[in-house]
Amino acid sequence: MSGGGSADQAVFGPVPSRRLGLSLGVDLLWPKTCTLDCVYCELGPTNQLTARRGVFRDPDEVLAQVAERLDQLERPPDFITLAGSGEPTLHQDLGRVLQDLKSLGRAKLAVLTNGTLTPDPEVRRALALADVVVPSLDAVSPDVFARINRPAAGVHPEEIVEGLIALREAVRGRLWLEVLLVAGINDREAELARIIAAAERIGPDRVQLNTVVRPPAVSGVKAVGGRRLAEIAERFNLDCEVIAEPTVRARPERGELAAEVVEMTRRRPCTIDDLANMAGLDRRRTKELVRRLLKAGRLKTELHGQQIFYRGV
Ligand code: SF4
Repeated sequence: MSGGGSADQAVFGPVPSRRLGLSLGVDLLWPKTCTLDCVYCELGPTNQLTARRGVFRDPDEVLAQVAERLDQLERPPDFITLAGSGEPTLHQDLGRVLQDLKSLGRAKLAVLTNGTLTPDPEVRRALALADVVVPSLDAVSPDVFARINRPAAGVHPEEIVEGLIALREAVRGRLWLEVLLVAGINDREAELARIIAAAERIGPDRVQLNTVVRPPAVSGVKAVGGRRLAEIAERFNLDCEVIAEPTVRARPERGELAAEVVEMTRRRPCTIDDLANMAGLDRRRTKELVRRLLKAGRLKTELHGQQIFYRGV
């Protein structure tokens, strides 16, 4: 899930996604509202930290915006993905939204969730309507969970693991578990062993290892190196992969490209290469576009590791 967002715009992209091909994003919440306040979150800090489900965007408005965007596209996306400014399962009408989107019959549906509300059977019933559910689990022991995910009151890792085991029954064949590793926090041997054991109990169809690839909410939070990630992936007795960079190019579509770049990078800071990939432009033309947007104050730069990222303002 990924920065900022806007009050009136629930749909963003399509964007090339590292795991879902060409993905049209749907943001059910705004401003950012989440059950967690992860140190690595690319959206920045969670100001609305809650585990209470509620009313956020109007489902009719979401459906209308998705239908309109789909009509504009020359090529349909591979997935419509519920993600964006926080935790989508906090939306109490999640089931209705998924049903409505399914009725459009235009793309498969994916939900990216932090998994914290899966102990609730109603949330599991709603998630079962998606074609793919991608929950995350970064820690199992309460102290590491508290350090990396900084949860709202009432959110406990052992209950999440049980919720994910129950979810697995409802979404057999369609559950991809993401584990995001942060150097020095959840990549130590004892915690890794717990995460691997929990993943094997959950039994997802695949495990995707990720790390801090974009500017995090808390400065100084560090990525785990590629070689170490590959070694860790080998230790899962499950289909486990290190998530690679996107390979799908999004073709330029109708609509103003500059506005789309600003909208998308509000939710997910991007490098020049990410933007070139998304916009289907070469690097030179992408750089020109970025220079114009920086000058106009519509993008700002952020440094993470050795890389420069651009974030919509
Ligand atoms: S679960 Fe963590 S990473 Fe995802 S939106 Fe919430 S705070 Fe950000």
